[in-house]
Amino acid sequence: MNDQIQVIRGMHDILPVDMPVWNQLEDSYRRLAESYGYQQIRTPIVEKTALFQRSIGEVTDIVEKEMYSFSDRNGDSLSLRPENTAGVVRAGLENGLLNDAQLRLWYWGPMFRHERPQKGRYRQFYQLGAETFGMAGADIEAELIFLAERFWNRLGLQGIELQINSLGSSECRNKFRQKLVTYFRDCYQSLDEDSARRLETNPLRILDSKNPEMQSLIDAAPRLIDNLDQQSSEHFSQLTEILDYAGVSYELNPRLVRGLDYYCHTVFEWVTNTLGAQGTVCGGGRYDGLVEQLGGRANTAAGFSMGCERIIAMLIDQDQAHAAKSCDVYLLSRGEQSARVAQKLSESLRDFMPNLSMLVHSGGGSFKSQMRKADKSGARIALILGESEIEAQTVSVKFLREETEQIEIAQVDLPDRLLAWIEQSNI
Ligand code: ATP
Ligand code: MG
Repeated sequence: MNDQIQVIRGMHDILPVDMPVWNQLEDSYRRLAESYGYQQIRTPIVEKTALFQRSIGEVTDIVEKEMYSFSDRNGDSLSLRPENTAGVVRAGLENGLLNDAQLRLWYWGPMFRHERPQKGRYRQFYQLGAETFGMAGADIEAELIFLAERFWNRLGLQGIELQINSLGSSECRNKFRQKLVTYFRDCYQSLDEDSARRLETNPLRILDSKNPEMQSLIDAAPRLIDNLDQQSSEHFSQLTEILDYAGVSYELNPRLVRGLDYYCHTVFEWVTNTLGAQGTVCGGGRYDGLVEQLGGRANTAAGFSMGCERIIAMLIDQDQAHAAKSCDVYLLSRGEQSARVAQKLSESLRDFMPNLSMLVHSGGGSFKSQMRKADKSGARIALILGESEIEAQTVSVKFLREETEQIEIAQVDLPDRLLAWIEQSNI
């Protein structure tokens, strides 16, 4: 067995036992996003590498060291998507969706980043997200925040806190950049290798550094929020006013810059201290420049994305994960001839009851072993079809989780009786 091929490091199978909580997350998000009028979009998981270079930025962790890039057979450079905003904008432009005045979209899907795998950090991970276009005001940013907060509440999660900051307009970012360069040049000797390099290419990114040795230097650095022009600070106050009015609590985090280049004005993260080092469960903000940067007409935009694995870890930790639901009925048969009749009966039951969840025994075996399988399946009801039942046009019914006698009922009555039993157990 030594030569068994294993899953790629940092990637995970989502096994049947894991699926209920994944479905819970996805269904709940779909319902919520649609209730806010967001429409779903799905884009390919592979895009031209240039798309990510142009949108996320050349000097970001993602593009510099985390992308799965490769040449395809034509020699084109392609990448597995590390995030979905760029793909959504590309698809929006290509399909004329952004010609509409306003657009609200949601997505779900796998993303790929070649990071060092650890708890809450994987090489394939899933994101749920939202992207909006054509709305310049702080009201849409607030809506995105309301939606995320409602999501935590629906999932029954506690302890997720909102942090916000403003990066200001691109003009004030540029001015601030100069200030920051001056500051970090003065303490050049104390910069780590990454930061020294970024000083030349993308100094704002230094603020995003996770290196503990850099933290005191970063703490003392000039703050973006103190360097906003009037329009930018008005925009930001509008957001905080809406949040205050709605009673949404938040913390102003002047060091929040987000890892991607395309953000401006509002940025936000939802963080928890219950997950260890990987505490950010959702990140987002405004990215007005991106549509134009990718070749479209200038357009405003704001969105967020959430890390599914981290949210699922919280659901499990906080005991909010739904348990797997087993099937309702296990249909087994006594004798070879009966198996065929049983299978036909099962199909007609499915015609009557489209929502019936029923396992039909397959593969023969003794009655005893079939009963063992029925028990193991978790089904509440076993339907038994033997030669005598077939002759009498009946079926025997055994309630596997109750201390009741086995009963025999007419096959014609079965759909109605079954419906009643199952409804009863779903109450
Ligand atoms: P981090 O600071 O944790 O690296 P990020 O800023 O790189 O996060 P984003 O690009 O904003 O993350 O992605 C949005 C969300 O996706 C994150 O808040 C996180 O919940 C999740 N996420 C990002 N990278 C990973 C990963 N490698 N594995 C699992 N989840 C991830
Ligand atoms: Mg990251």
